[in-house]
Parts: sequence; C-alpha cells; structure tokens
Amino acid sequence: MSHWKAQFDNLIAPAVAKSAVTKHLIIDRGAITHVGEVAASVTSSQRAILFADRAGFDAAGYATRDQLASAGFAVDQLILNDDPLPKASVEEAEPFIETLKSDPLLLPVSVGSGVINDLVKFASYETNRQYVSVATAASMDGYTSAGAPLAREGFKVTIPTRAPMALIADLDVIAKAPAEMTGWGYGDLAGKSPAGGDWLLAELVGAEVRDATAWPLVQDHLRGWLCDPQALAHGDRDATARLFIGLTAVGFAMEFHGSSRPASGADHQIAHMWEMEDLSLEGRKVSHGAAVAVGCVVTLALYDWLLGQDLSQITGPVPDLNAALDELRRVIPDARIADRAVLQTQEKWIDPALHADRLKRICTYWQDTRGIIRQQLFRTGEMVAMLKMAGAPAFAKDIGVSSVHLERTIRAAAYIRSRYTILDFLKETGLFERALSEVLPKLDQLAAHGGKI
Ligand SMILES: [Zn+2]
Repeated sequence: MSHWKAQFDNLIAPAVAKSAVTKHLIIDRGAITHVGEVAASVTSSQRAILFADRAGFDAAGYATRDQLASAGFAVDQLILNDDPLPKASVEEAEPFIETLKSDPLLLPVSVGSGVINDLVKFASYETNRQYVSVATAASMDGYTSAGAPLAREGFKVTIPTRAPMALIADLDVIAKAPAEMTGWGYGDLAGKSPAGGDWLLAELVGAEVRDATAWPLVQDHLRGWLCDPQALAHGDRDATARLFIGLTAVGFAMEFHGSSRPASGADHQIAHMWEMEDLSLEGRKVSHGAAVAVGCVVTLALYDWLLGQDLSQITGPVPDLNAALDELRRVIPDARIADRAVLQTQEKWIDPALHADRLKRICTYWQDTRGIIRQQLFRTGEMVAMLKMAGAPAFAKDIGVSSVHLERTIRAAAYIRSRYTILDFLKETGLFERALSEVLPKLDQLAAHGGKI
C-alpha cells in the first residue's frame, strides 16, 4: 500500500465517518466509475443535473454522465460559458439556483474544480438539497469545506453552506489537470503554514484557542503533503493523491472547527484583496491558489522578521480606531469593499484595557510561542523554493503586482476580516510599520534574485 493510501485510511476515512455532511469520499484511479452507485446511494431521485464549466466537462463530464445514466439516472446538463470564465460570485450561481428550483428532485452533480464546486455548493444549499462533487483538479481546498468563498456585490465573503454529500476524485483525471492548476492547489495548501502561525498568535494574545481536532489534522501533516513539489509538477499520481488528501483534510478541519480558521489567515486576506480587485495577468484572472501562494510568502517573511524580535518587554501604543479607519479608506478606494471592511475592523477592535492585557500576555509567553512558530512554520526561502518547484508563483511580480501595490494590499488586508492575524499582532505591538519597511525591500531583493540571496 503506498503511503497516501495508508494516510487515506488513517486520516481521511475517520474524518468522513465523523463528518456530519460528507458520507462518501473516493480518491483513487478510476474512481469515476463509482459515481453512479454513489449518487444512487444518496438519493432516491432518478434525476440528476451536471453543472460544469467547459474545461471540467471536457475532463470528466462525459464519463460522469455515462456512469449516472448506467445507474438509472435521467441526466441533464448545464455548462457555463468559458468566455468570460465563470466568476466565483453569488450572481454567477443564479442559473444553477433557477434550474434547481424548477425540480425539487434534481440531484446536483458538480463536475469541475474551485469556482464550479463553490457555485454548485452554494446553489444546492440555497435550494435545500445535497450534492455530489466530481473533482477535476487538485487546485484548492474547498471541495470538502462547508463554506463557499464567493463575492457578493463585489465583496468576498465565506458564505455558510454545506459540503458535498459525496466527493469523487479520480486520480486519472486530476493528475492530468493542467500543471498550473496543481500548482494553485499546492499554493493554497502552502498557505496553511502561516495560517497556523496566525492561530498561534491568536492563542498567545487570548483571542482564540487552537482546537484539539482541527489543528493537528492540518498542522501535523503539512510537511508531508508539501514535501514533493517536483513530482507534482510532473503529474505524478501518488504526489497528486497526497496533495489532494491534504486539501481534503483541510476541508474537514474547517467543518470540525466550524470556521475557516484552520485554513486561512493573513495569507488568504492578502489573496482575497487581489481576488476582489479582479487581479488579472495577461488577460486571465489570477487564480485563488496563485494569489494565496504569494500571500503565503509575504506572510512567512513577516513571520521570519517577527522571529528575530525580542518581545519580552514589548509596549505598544493603544491602537487608534479613527486613524485606522482613515488608513482603511485610503488603501481600499472601492467604497463597497471599504464599507464592509469598516464593519470587520470595528468587530475586532479592542479597548485599552484588553490591549494592555494582550501586551502582558505577549511579554510573558512570547518565548514559548516563538519556539513553536520557529518549529512549525516554513522559512521564507524554503517555501519559495518549494513553490517554484511546484510550478506556483512565489512573488508579487509573478502575478503582476508591483511593490507599491503589494504594500497597499498588505495594509488593506489587515482590515477586511475580523479574524486575528499577524497583521493585527504587529499593529497591537506597534511593530507594523517597522516590519513592513524592513520586510518589503527584502522580498524585492529575494524576487530579483529568483528566491536566492
Ligand atoms: Zn484557499
């Protein structure tokens, strides 16, 4: 039994057993041949509809349709146009919702990766039914998560929904996905490294505690999932399976924790800014995983800087909400995004007494937390090398973002979500400006030298 199969049995199968939603999960070669019987086991209806984009349908649509038909389903299909490519937005899910509303017994079957899965997940939830997901790429971690990160009137939010009842990942399909898509999945998973740091800092200041299920489910295995970027780039099936298992485990961690905390921190907030701006490179929208990969490197660089600081006597100025809101409006010119960000910022704002209490905790426990962060998180240079081997971007310039734009994004990212991250930590300790002024030139230098200095 190859290593990933053992890990499937030891880690994923128990997670499926524990999941309140996902009842069937198959990761294997030829897994698609089981989609008919799996679908028949989750519904008594005999009618199914395939939702796909062009690329997803070409990769697995025909086989899925045939398998469902052989299991006795009458199968309809709705394939989204690929010019322009479908967007991850509530508005884009409308045709799916309308179709599902027309027949309460239709079983939705998503054939595709990130955007399609999120749209179908949202449409199924909105029309109060379960769905089946056929994965076509190991490109993101959202297959098994309960939330759908979609834009609503231009602002990216994680909408509470329901994970698929069944997920089918045929290795013969997903290992053949374009190499760049696998790179995106690798980038999305890499982001869990600094996201773990953010959870540790939140615990240090007393804002949140790590949970005993979701934390180890992701953080204990991250190095193993990310250890072979070269094989992934070559479409190796075993390496793809390991990556897919990692992405799936993250989805379950989110379900068990009840939020995206195990999967997303400052790295994702940076990425979400670019996603909300519709960042494009050479006419194509920069993908979620590519944006996260860059956000991951930026955040790890901030962590490397932080590791060099002695915080045992730290004192920081009491944060000034009005000054923060002024900066927020300056760095987020889009009023719709800024209005939502104001609410998120107000939600996490703390009074002077709590601020003093947090500083006291940092002085007392920094040494311990620093030790865990040093051990748990990847160093920036190490991550850059791995991302490059996986075919993922690592630096802002790789996705067409200038140094000035990057700085504005980091500043904006601190405001768009109430979740506590290293950005809040740096602000509350009065270190934010110094960290940016020292880390950003270092990143520029690293990028100019292809990751090596
Ligand atoms: Zn993600």
